[in-house]
This record gives sequence, structure tokens and C-alpha cells, in this order.
Amino acid sequence: MYDVIIVGAGVSGVTFASKISKYAKTLLIEAQDYQKEIPIRTNIFPEHNKPFIKEELDWNNKKIFPHPHTTSNYMSDEFNGVIDSKEFGIPLGNISYTENLIQHLINQFESQGGIFKSNERISKINRHNDHLEIINLKGESYNSKLLVLATGSRGFELQRSLGFGAPDSYAGVYLHLFGDESKINENLDYNYSFHINPKISINGPFFFNKGVERISAGYLGEKHQSKEEIISKLEKILKNYKPIQSIVNGLSYNISDAVVGEISKHPIKKYSDDRVLILGEAAGIVSAFFYEGLLPGVACADIAANTLKPLFEKGSDFSGTELQKYDKEVNRVLMTYFKNGNAFEYLIYNESSSVKNLWRLYTKLLSENRTCRKYIYEAYINHDLSKHKVANDRYVGEKLFGMLPTLSKVSLSPKFLKAMFLL
Ligand SMILES: Cc1cc2nc3c(=O)[nH]c(=O)nc-3n(C[C@H](O)[C@H](O)[C@H](O)COP(=O)(O)OP(=O)(O)OC[C@H]3O[C@@H](n4cnc5c(N)ncnc54)[C@H](O)[C@@H]3O)c2cc1C
Repeated sequence: MYDVIIVGAGVSGVTFASKISKYAKTLLIEAQDYQKEIPIRTNIFPEHNKPFIKEELDWNNKKIFPHPHTTSNYMSDEFNGVIDSKEFGIPLGNISYTENLIQHLINQFESQGGIFKSNERISKINRHNDHLEIINLKGESYNSKLLVLATGSRGFELQRSLGFGAPDSYAGVYLHLFGDESKINENLDYNYSFHINPKISINGPFFFNKGVERISAGYLGEKHQSKEEIISKLEKILKNYKPIQSIVNGLSYNISDAVVGEISKHPIKKYSDDRVLILGEAAGIVSAFFYEGLLPGVACADIAANTLKPLFEKGSDFSGTELQKYDKEVNRVLMTYFKNGNAFEYLIYNESSSVKNLWRLYTKLLSENRTCRKYIYEAYINHDLSKHKVANDRYVGEKLFGMLPTLSKVSLSPKFLKAMFLL
């Protein structure tokens, strides 16, 4: 009998595994074959993630964090709204080679006695009075006092079978482009570029994340968009879309390496029940506008470990009532910050003809208004997001509204009012 079984070895699952294995006999199971390869991912890892994983990581480890994240460009076809950390202080965070981060946390987990099995898909879970039975595709089963689902957007059937909801999910695609370090730096000034064009997607950004000898490029598309369609559109964008040609030129890539996957948002109602917790993206805890999912992954893992430690110590039976503390803490820590994503999602991710113009004005606002830039900087580096200042988001919203031409002010004021109400 295990104390804990974790299904899913993405950032949420491995962070939690490396924390809980200090106190509990833990099994971590992953469907993908990590012995062959952990798929490469070049991600933005903001400073505000760090308090949740400070004991497990060394920020100077260049294999995991090849360089600091100093510049973000909120980019339209006309303006670069650049947040440059040098204007205000410390870096915005790090760029992470997330495959190395995951491997590092698995090593730590195993060195603490945890057992890791990859290339094994869990297909069924049976509830018993005093434990859960977790069954893989081959019909082999494991027993555990507690189950933690960290299955991202790929385990909705499992969570539904236990009576949980499933979040909204959208297709996303990314691809790595390669070049030597000097070429990468010549082509791209910014660590992170975030671009909205409704012709690319009405649900999410097109982005570039810059590593050392690689750049990750991709976009977040429609619900249920097919793999062929989303990859073929990415190829056309990389080949023909004018605003990004100077970034792509001279870099090598193979479109058949593009990775397509679902990404979720809009949190489900509850993340815990008797003997079960759900972490990170599986619970839809991804910020609605920026699609920031590493923060919720590490935050849920930390909060879950802190909730469970005293329960293990007192020999708890992990009742739903005891585990509710996890839900409350996740909501307390993350949901104030998430409000700005909800408001922005409502304003920008839709089919209205005003979207392109609104995004252009937003990027202009950032390029001109130091206070707006400073407020975004402060959100990046805030080590206590439960105290995120919603008033700062309101200020940015009001300034954006103020930039609209008179006629647009009249037509868009109900939309802005509702967005402000979401803050
Ligand atoms: C294109 C793209 C770019 C992104 N960039 C960023 C970024 O720069 N910064 C950021 O903060 N966020 C980013 N995100 C979001 C972020 O990457 C994710 O939200 C986050 O990694 C989710 O972590 P997770 O551990 O919760 O889920 P996942 O990483 O999806 O891990 C879940 C794991 O569970 C396994 N699994 C599922 N079902 C089973 C099963 N039945 N049995 C066994 N194993 C199973 C899966 O194989 C998977 O490995 C991006 C997302 C996309 C799509």
C-alpha cells in the first residue's frame, strides 16, 4: 500500500512528488516514455513562481534556467509594449528548459525513496472504503491511501470517473526553431513576445520564448481544432506572416516536430474530495489570458504538500472535509491575481471587430505609460500573489479606455464596465 500515488509527471506532478516523498511512501506514474525522452519545452518561469519551489531548485542551474527573463514584448503590428526589468529592478524571472526541470525533480524524488514508473497509462480507478485502487492499461493495479491527479488536459475521463468536473480546453501548438546563440540574439531582442491577431486565433496569443540556441514558437487555437489544421496554420504563419519574418529568418526547424496538445483554463468547482486531490492544469487552474500554467502547477504542489504533511503526521483518513483546506488555500493564493486574466480574456478573446484595435492601443499604452509598465513588472515579481493589487489592473483598464476614440468609447463602454466588474 502506498501513502500517495501521483498520476502525471508534468510540472505539477513532479513538484509535488519531490515535496511529499520527504514524508510519505510515494509512487509517481507517467504515460509518456520519459526513458526515451522528456519532450523539450522552453518556457517563461516568472519570478512570482519561486516561493513555491525555492527549496527544490537552484536558480543558478544553467541547465534548467539558461538565462534570466529580462524583457517581455507585448507586440502588435505597430507597437512594441516592452517591459524591461532594467527599468525597474530585478529580472522578471527565468527562461526554463522545462524538460531539465522535470528531470531534476524526478531525480530528487527518487533520491528520497520515491518510485517512478514511466510509459504507463492509468485507465481506471476504483474507490474502496479505506483506499483507492489505481489500474493501468495492462490491468496491473496499485493501492494507495491517497490519489493525486496531475494529469493536465489529458486525464479528464479519470477525473470525471471520480465525480470531478473537467475544465474548458483548447488546442495549442508549439515548435522549436534552432540557431547559434548569436543568430538567436540577432533575430530576437526579447525573451518573451506575446502577440494577438484575431486572424491567428480568437482564443489566445502567438508567442516566442527565447532560449540560448533555441526559440519556442506557437499559438493557442480553437476548441477541438484538428492537429493537421493547427500545424498547417503554424507553418503558414512562420513562412508568410510579415511581422515575424525577421525573427524566423535563418533559423532551422522541422514542421513535423510541432507538438500539439490541449491546454485548459477556467477552474473546476472543487479540486478535492475524499482521498483525492487535483493539481494544476487538470483542475483548469491556468490564467485565462496569458495561459500561465507553471505558476499554478508549482503553487498547487506546494499547497497540497503543506496541507497533507500534518494529516500524515496524525494518521488521517483524508476525508473530503479535511482536504477542503487545499481548495481554500489555492483560491486564496491564486484567484486574486487570476482576476486580471479573466477581465482581459473577456475584452480580447472574442470575434468582435474591435479586438485588433484594442490590442494595438494596449501595446501603445505600454510603450508610452511607465506606470502601466511598472504595474505589470510588479505582478511578475510579486512573491505574495494573494496581495496582488487589483487597483493596478483597474488603472491600466481605465487608461486603455481613455485611449479609445469617442465613437468606440460609446460602443465599448458596456464591455469595459463588465471587464472592470470581473476585477
Ligand atoms: C504551447 C504552450 C506554451 C506554454 N508556455 C507556458 C509558459 O511559457 N509558461 C507557463 O507558465 N505556462 C506555459 N504553458 C502552460 C503550462 O505549460 C502548463 O499549464 C503546465 O505545464 C501544466 O502542467 P501540469 O503538470 O499540470 O500538466 P502537464 O504538463 O500536461 O502534465 C500532465 C502529465 O500527465 C500525464 N498523464 C495524463 N493522463 C495520464 C494517465 N491516464 N496516466 C498516466 N499519465 C498521464 C501526461 O502524459 C502529462 O505528462 C504553455 C502551454 C502551452 C500549450
